[in-house]
Amino acid sequence: MKYVIFSDIHANLEAFDAVLEKFKAERADRYICLGDLVGYGADPTRCIEKVNALDPVLVAGNHDFAAAGILNSDFFNSYAYQAIEWTKSQLSDEHKQFLGRLKLVRHIDGITLVHSNLYLPELFEYMQSSYDVQLGFTKLETPLCFIGHSHVPVFFVMSRGTFSFSTEPYMQMVLDSRVIVNVGSVGQPRDDNPLASYAVYDETEGVIWIKRIEYDVDKAAGKIRQAGLSEILSERLKYGR
Ligand code: ZN
Repeated sequence: MKYVIFSDIHANLEAFDAVLEKFKAERADRYICLGDLVGYGADPTRCIEKVNALDPVLVAGNHDFAAAGILNSDFFNSYAYQAIEWTKSQLSDEHKQFLGRLKLVRHIDGITLVHSNLYLPELFEYMQSSYDVQLGFTKLETPLCFIGHSHVPVFFVMSRGTFSFSTEPYMQMVLDSRVIVNVGSVGQPRDDNPLASYAVYDETEGVIWIKRIEYDVDKAAGKIRQAGLSEILSERLKYGR
């Protein structure tokens, strides 16, 4: 089986269209989407429709639940809050209900999928510090887990009780180790690299790649400004922050 795994599109249609074009050449058997389809960007409806057209295995992100009205967005920062309120005004009831029905954690083919953290996933805490990640590993019952949320692609590895991480774009799975892969963000990368990010997992080879794709950042940023959303949200796309 070959999987294409993507996350955190955040209503960035230009970034999503660019990765969709690359997906064709990947010839994946299955697509996996790790949530945050909406929030921050200017094309929530079209992004939901295009995600659904891939028929992926999906889990919920915090912005999905906030847009569906089932997660309190009062704790979001002011520009994220404003973007969620705007997103709610754009989405149909049907799309909100669709987002609200997404599950927090799923298991397919011996792989665990979660947006944020396996430890109390409903709190949407980050898995970034070695403490958070090692706590996450205590809840991991499969050799492999894919996550999103931080918008920073990284491999976390637990091998015979020893924890390590790697920001290389490639990981070979080895026996007796468990791996948590953050696939980065399609629509709002935050690792000082503005290129859209996604992952490919070839189960037969036991190999995972992180791929980075150019897209029309200026067009996506212009739409965010036109929608009246915060300048922070349009500017950060240019720097990948
Ligand atoms: Zn996100």
